Amino acid sequence: MEFSVPIEPDDEGYLGRECPECEKYFKIKGGTGIPDVPGCHCPYCNHVDGHDTFWTKAQIEYAQSVALHEVSRHLLGEMKKMERRPDRNAFISIGITVKGEPTPIARYSERELEERVTCAACTLQYTIYGAFGYCPDCGVHNSQQIACANFDLSLKLLDLAAGAEANVQAKLVENALEDVVSAFDGFGREHCAGLAYKLSFQNIDAARTKLQKEEGFDIGAGVAQDEWDFVCEQFQKRHLLAHKMGIVDEEFVRKTDSRLPVGRKVPIEEADVRSLVKILKTVVDTLYGGVARR
Ligand SMILES: [Zn+2]
Ligand SMILES: [Zn+2]
Repeated sequence: MEFSVPIEPDDEGYLGRECPECEKYFKIKGGTGIPDVPGCHCPYCNHVDGHDTFWTKAQIEYAQSVALHEVSRHLLGEMKKMERRPDRNAFISIGITVKGEPTPIARYSERELEERVTCAACTLQYTIYGAFGYCPDCGVHNSQQIACANFDLSLKLLDLAAGAEANVQAKLVENALEDVVSAFDGFGREHCAGLAYKLSFQNIDAARTKLQKEEGFDIGAGVAQDEWDFVCEQFQKRHLLAHKMGIVDEEFVRKTDSRLPVGRKVPIEEADVRSLVKILKTVVDTLYGGVARR
């Protein structure tokens, strides 16, 4: 006997998927992405295989239970036909009553996931745990896309900050600088996660030197020297905000050749954060295109 059991997507049109290799869960939205794509990429481990190898355990259990339900229902129906009452006039007579229910169906619902992504390369909509992953349809890794989305979000927050009162605005600009640096750091770490050594991109100059030495690759190749110095200074300012309450210290003055007096609060300019984003987008492009993911 063969049964065909339709597996329905959730209310928003997302179908649950589970990688046969790493067994992690994600969802893809039907009708988006590449039409009739033959294979599926696992967003987490990039295992590639046919779509029918990506059923979740809950979906398989459901399909099996539907089949069992049908079989047991059919069987019970056949047995019901054999029911009969005892013959009161007979010397000996046995009645048959059939009782029982078909086996229950194992219903399930798809899970909520943390990050919704629309692939910039093929328009597939998918949801994953965490933030970073390969597109299940085209296999493009989304790290660059996520970095740029975070940069753009910070720019939008700066737009909103423009209407706020002075101290709120100052705080929002500081937050934007911190967010931009951590978005870059998150991207860099993710993109270089397969390298044999750990890299932190919060110290962008040290990361540049390390990659030059180990990979022979320059992440600052697309950026002029004065722009690079500017980027390093903004990263140092972020360091002061995160660790020194935003107060200028001797290390900052030494590293940035700043003329700001030690002990004063470091000024964070909105225009600087915007310029930083612009330059960092170039650095992201360079790193994404230059050092291969492993
Ligand atoms: Zn996987
Ligand atoms: Zn894609």
